[in-house]
Amino acid sequence: MTDLFSKFDALIGEREALLATGVRDPFAIVMDEVKSPTLAVIKGKETILLGTYNYMGMTFDPDVVQAGKDALDNFGSGTTGSRVLNGTYQGHKACEEALQEFYGMDHAMVFSTGYQANLGMISTLAGKGDYIILDADSHASIYDGCYLGNAEIVRFRHNSVEDLDKRLGRLPEDAQKLVVLEGVYSMLGDIAPLPDMVAAVRKHKNCMILVDEAHGMGFFGPNGRGVYEEQGVEDEIDFVVGTFSKSVGTVGGFCVSNHPKFEVLRLVCRPYVFTASLPPSVVATAATSIRKLMHAGNKRAHLWENSKRLHTGLREMGFKLGTETPQSAIIAVILTDQTQAVAMWQSLLELGLYVNMARPPATPAGTFLLRCSLCAEHSDEQVTQILGMFEAAGKATGAIS
Ligand code: PMP
Repeated sequence: MTDLFSKFDALIGEREALLATGVRDPFAIVMDEVKSPTLAVIKGKETILLGTYNYMGMTFDPDVVQAGKDALDNFGSGTTGSRVLNGTYQGHKACEEALQEFYGMDHAMVFSTGYQANLGMISTLAGKGDYIILDADSHASIYDGCYLGNAEIVRFRHNSVEDLDKRLGRLPEDAQKLVVLEGVYSMLGDIAPLPDMVAAVRKHKNCMILVDEAHGMGFFGPNGRGVYEEQGVEDEIDFVVGTFSKSVGTVGGFCVSNHPKFEVLRLVCRPYVFTASLPPSVVATAATSIRKLMHAGNKRAHLWENSKRLHTGLREMGFKLGTETPQSAIIAVILTDQTQAVAMWQSLLELGLYVNMARPPATPAGTFLLRCSLCAEHSDEQVTQILGMFEAAGKATGAIS
């Protein structure tokens, strides 16, 4: 029988064949209990979490949790409305104020997810007749924002300043252009050479720059604003998009900017207008977490130590990694194919370690990856345990000798 599902037959077949070999389904893990930012119980087994993007470990911060409880008590479980109707509570305003302070920017707009922040900002800024210039390895939410807005899409080679410059040079000078970059690219954990990219963009007319700092917030720069702060290009970036689902430790998305006309977006941005706002408990936890992240220098330093130790240890064991040197809190282990990736992933899980598995089309160049993301709350002892588990799983599966 042929119907609208027929296009998924190949995927269904591939998945059934994989599961028939007896492996656990990597995309159907259930956390039965979560004990801390770094520890959960999965199928009765205590498991170290190394694939959460919970970089700063804020999910169990007592102040953050208390703020959520208080908001639940005082404002109820949800707003049941859009930000532009009944869905703006004082908590949403307080969260936007926390973001303005955190980023030192005039305007902040909170969305219901980071995905919607990209969808909304990109589609609203760049419409028919405009151009969006984006890195080929951009996150799905960036691509989807391009499609929603109907702008012309121009891709440049991942992190290639030369290609960015060349492609901008081919576009009509008078056309309005939005260049979209990411601070940290989440698949391989590499960072963008933002000063060189900004310099290339500024050679061309009518360009605005948006940087997605989903994986940079909390960790990079003296104030934890992101890679763009660490690399000293704050004055050159027109819009910063981010998420609450990583360092902030809850859910939600945002955009901050100094553009004088920014506030008009609240009226015209469809993924902001036509959806319900975040529950009061969520914005309360986000605001508390953001304020604490302003003073998280010690956590940042420990996260760097963890990243460096894991990267060095895995490289010395002979694993192929996404970057030559540790560049962020993401360390990607590149495996030869799906069979090896799944075998490694399952072996690690049985030993008590959870990592993310990523495969095409989400990954660049058809790679199969085990993505590790470190947390500032991983203890030195846990990093030692993690390294031991990788060595054991790598040898058992033949991924290393
Ligand atoms: N941008 C990037 C670069 C991301 O990696 C993600 C999530 N993985 C998002 C945006 C979307 O964030 P959220 O989970 O808040 O929807």
